Amino acid sequence: MMSGRRPFIAGNWKENPDTLEAAIDLAKVVSTASSSASNVDVAVVVPFPFLVPVKETLKGSNVLIGAQDLYTEDKGAYTGATSLPMIKSVGAQWVLCGHSERRALFGDTDETVNAKLKKVLAAGLKAILCIGETKDEYELGVNKLICGLQLAKGLKGVTKEQMENVAIAYEPVWAIGTGLTATPEIAQDVHSNIRAILGEAYGQAVADKVVIQYGGSVTPETVDELMAMPDIDGALVGGASLVGEKFARIINFK
Ligand code: PGA
Repeated sequence: MMSGRRPFIAGNWKENPDTLEAAIDLAKVVSTASSSASNVDVAVVVPFPFLVPVKETLKGSNVLIGAQDLYTEDKGAYTGATSLPMIKSVGAQWVLCGHSERRALFGDTDETVNAKLKKVLAAGLKAILCIGETKDEYELGVNKLICGLQLAKGLKGVTKEQMENVAIAYEPVWAIGTGLTATPEIAQDVHSNIRAILGEAYGQAVADKVVIQYGGSVTPETVDELMAMPDIDGALVGGASLVGEKFARIINFK
């Protein structure tokens, strides 16, 4: 993390926890823990039914709230879908776009991810664009190439001005939920490449402002050395964000 960018740590709850009561309990712990984490933006990215009650629970804290996905049609006969206007109207500030689980399990492509991202930005909300290579791609040594492609396709048509509302999350698929964290050096290498690509597309001044999070088995044990890297500006935390004390330690990284 280099001075000049404000660290941003988000907890991606995924399809957890399984009750509203547990969600509120977890939000309370995050709310308390955030009071000692003053130089970092903190968000929880929660399942749709929990957006309203969790936001209510977080009132008075600095913790931001986000949704995990959206459907690109604003309203209509799309059973099971949740639109961006709905997400916006309940006060979410962030939306995840292109998480690898959406890509692998729910058919998101670079094109749909791009459409979702543009929808979020057009509405004035902020988006975390998730990118990352699979294990095979990593082993073939094409991780930076894959990330570069996902980045270019995901950001197609996004303007320089809109980049103020975009964070990138580099999440190597092989590190998600596996306990295998990319080493700080591997992550830094990809992050600096992402910033270089952003620099070519938008100019260095814009690229220098973009927050690039690392995600993939981030824990209290690994967060400090990851955050010490110059181009790692935050974390997107899955499993450890569900354990109050762990997430509390992560947002209070040293
Ligand atoms: P993990 O998930 O921390 O459980 O690996 C990260 C993510 O998928 O955002």
